[in-house]
Amino acid sequence: MPKEKADIEVKRQELVSAVDSLRPMVEDVARSLYEHPELGLEEVFASRKLTSILESHGFSVEKEVAGLPTAFMAKAGKVRPAIAFMAEYDALLGIGHGCGHNLMAACALAAGIASKTVLPPETEQVTWIVLGTPAEETIGGKVVMTEAGVFDKIDAAFIAHPGQRNSLGGSSWASHPMEITFYGKSAHAGGNPQAGINALDALVSAYVAIRTMKNHLRDDVRLAGIITHGGDAPNVVPDRASCRFTIRAKDSRYLEEVVIPRVKQCAEGAALSVGARVEFRHYEPLFRETLEHPVLREIARKNFEYLGVKVPPPEPGTGGGVTDVGSVTWAVPCIQIGFEMTDARGHSKEMADATITPRAINATLMAAKVLALSALDLVYQPGLLEEAERYLQEVTGQSRQS
Ligand SMILES: [Zn+2]
Repeated sequence: MPKEKADIEVKRQELVSAVDSLRPMVEDVARSLYEHPELGLEEVFASRKLTSILESHGFSVEKEVAGLPTAFMAKAGKVRPAIAFMAEYDALLGIGHGCGHNLMAACALAAGIASKTVLPPETEQVTWIVLGTPAEETIGGKVVMTEAGVFDKIDAAFIAHPGQRNSLGGSSWASHPMEITFYGKSAHAGGNPQAGINALDALVSAYVAIRTMKNHLRDDVRLAGIITHGGDAPNVVPDRASCRFTIRAKDSRYLEEVVIPRVKQCAEGAALSVGARVEFRHYEPLFRETLEHPVLREIARKNFEYLGVKVPPPEPGTGGGVTDVGSVTWAVPCIQIGFEMTDARGHSKEMADATITPRAINATLMAAKVLALSALDLVYQPGLLEEAERYLQEVTGQSRQS
């Protein structure tokens, strides 16, 4: 490990050139994923392509991580600290890579391969990981991977998301959607309605109660629902009715401890009023809010600056967005930076087309440099990783075993 400032500066320069020399790989990954967009958990082409590139650079690859068919962990090194760069590679139905996850894959590979080349695990006593995290847009692969303990033996995790501006991350909301199903008793709606229990009546009362109750929650809550089943025939008393509610809040503790119990209370009251039974099911796991990490944010800010890139101050919070990176930020010191590669709006065909332009490739290389240089700081600056870990334990109130 270089001790002198001048030696570290040499390493930083080498890291920048190493990322630049990976330009053909970045272009190839961006274009081939753009041409083969795959939905969450179906990213077979992408995960095969990415793992074979990583293997050719000497990473050992574990597939189907956390039971997800298209997740992977590519590793170089055996010791701690272990630093991960996270790749996403799922596309959107109908618009392909309109969220630019093809660039996120290219960026993580470039950062991981360059780091391994310039800071070899054997001499620098570090482990480099490129983590393939599928299905961000659907089930939230990182939520599943976090719950499976994938981050327990990782000391820091980096990710970069493409878009309209450079950023040092920012927050996202917590989300825990729920399906509510009411069970009653069918009967002839005209001939013998008194023999029935109307599940739809219970549902409609619950819907109104939930929407009204929202006025008495904090402002940073979103409650919106649709009826997904309301009966089969108008002349039969519905014996089953169900709805789905998206339930979001700025903070997951408030969401779990206050909002969800109140939603359940509304539904239980409505069920009781007609003699129906109610069942609750979360059809998606809890996505936690993104915790901002000041230690990592400061490192990333300096490295944007080192590369001569200005990061505008954060936009006043619009709120309500959700990402599976949030759950990772609760498990390990983690930052998601944003990089500017287009003026097109997110989740659009125009953004997908923009991902293969020279501007997008330049931006992806820049983001990979920010991630790799930030990882270098964690490896070379004594005490920085410990400080990052300590901050996380303070805000979450959890200590994790290593
Ligand atoms: Zn995205």
